[in-house]
Amino acid sequence: MAQMLIGGELVGTRSGATIKVRNPASWEVVGEVPRGAGADVDAAVTAAAKALPGWAATPGTKRARLMHEAARRMHEAVDEVAKLLAQEHGKPLAHAKLEAGRVAENLEYFAGLADKLRGDYIPLDDPAKFGITMRRPVGVVAAITPWNFPLTLFANKLCPALAAGCTVVLKPASTTPLATQRAIEAISGAGFPAGVINTVHGSGSEIGDLLVSHPRVNKVAFTGQTETGKRIMALAAKNVTRVTLELGGSDPMIVADDADIRRASAAAAIGRFFNAGQACLAVKRIFVFEKVAEEFMTKLAERAQKEWKLGDQFAADTKMGPLHTEHQRAEVESQVADAVKRGARVLAGGERPKGDGLDRGWYYPATVLADVPYDSRVATEEVFGPAVPVFIVKDLDEAIAKANATVYGLGSSIFTKDMAKARRAAEQLEAGYTWVNDIQVAYDQLPFGGTKQSGFGKEHGVEALEGYLEKKSVVLASG
Ligand code: NAD
Repeated sequence: MAQMLIGGELVGTRSGATIKVRNPASWEVVGEVPRGAGADVDAAVTAAAKALPGWAATPGTKRARLMHEAARRMHEAVDEVAKLLAQEHGKPLAHAKLEAGRVAENLEYFAGLADKLRGDYIPLDDPAKFGITMRRPVGVVAAITPWNFPLTLFANKLCPALAAGCTVVLKPASTTPLATQRAIEAISGAGFPAGVINTVHGSGSEIGDLLVSHPRVNKVAFTGQTETGKRIMALAAKNVTRVTLELGGSDPMIVADDADIRRASAAAAIGRFFNAGQACLAVKRIFVFEKVAEEFMTKLAERAQKEWKLGDQFAADTKMGPLHTEHQRAEVESQVADAVKRGARVLAGGERPKGDGLDRGWYYPATVLADVPYDSRVATEEVFGPAVPVFIVKDLDEAIAKANATVYGLGSSIFTKDMAKARRAAEQLEAGYTWVNDIQVAYDQLPFGGTKQSGFGKEHGVEALEGYLEKKSVVLASG
């Protein structure tokens, strides 16, 4: 059985209670973790608080060396971690390997920044005094992650936190704890002092509140649903604990009449169907100009049918595994049914697959919808599965207005050869990211984070590091 890492020790819970982890393709149990309780949260936060002064005082060059060693160990553990991830999540093994490799890359990126933290010299009116600013770690970080990209999303929090001199308590989603726990064991084997990195397992509703409202937690770094984010923000208010919230999205893609349709349809398919559509940054609503609408929809539907083969996550030709849970599939099915009831046409997918061993898992095919009314659920809600509505618009003004008509503001994209259109979209789309003629991939170097109800605070880039640092002013007067 996997365990929790608390204060440098691998431990279970006192009660011995466990959570079974299942493979969404077969519903078989693939592992178990301790079902953490309040005492475990307290022990983990206390260990992190105890380790904080020492880690904060550790020279940046030493923090960087440990993080580079952690990256090396993570590279070595990629195959083992990826296998666990594919089993517990349902994503194809090749995609799980990419994700595991990203943890090592993220460690390397932030290791490179750990010894480059510095402040400013600020002259004051009084010549006998001057000011400086120093950047101090914010303290103990509670990192809470979802199940859709368990590894990249913990790395996005752990790596800048470690570089900044913070200590961390990580709580992964209860349905995907195994790969995270194994990765953390590989990373902590680099020799971080006890208590710098801790994990607790358990359901959000049972231990999440305790972690967020623990008085020794100084920052909550959360990724998950917007509704959970709102609850966390309210809970964090109790101790004025700072939060960064990476929440849901309903990213628009605009396809202008001068776009390269082959490229745009390929990007739309990857953007929507990768990870079986269970991605925060994903093409969730498409707005295509009238002149190229037919051609675009035909190509996208063809790709959905021919290129996104469903299958077992360990089969070499699988492009999409099952959805992660029964609930997840039921949700997507009901969103598609709602659109169809309101008059939408199904251009591809739209029905559970049968045979080929697909009856047991939570499989759902790549689905493309046309003639979708704007008040249907696929237009107004986040769709966290492989289904996409395509809307026809007359021009860029209409596309931008419709694209912005959502509570979300995470990613967005436009396909056009006209730089003026691209620039206007980049300026006017209400989102934390806009891609022009490119697929929706986040980069280590570029700050990433949402606006509106997609949250606030950045991950990736030097901006992510700032989220784990406090700027402190100091006045020095001659003695
Ligand atoms: P979720 O909100 O249900 O759970 C996320 C994490 O929060 C889990 O670890 C869960 O146990 C925990 N949690 C639940 N209730 C809690 C509480 N009261 N207090 C503290 N923790 C609690 O999200 P999910 O369904 O696992 O993930 C899917 C969602 O995440 C989607 O909406 C997706 O768009 C979003 N997401 C956003 C980003 C981003 O970067 N913006 C990235 C990936 C996923």
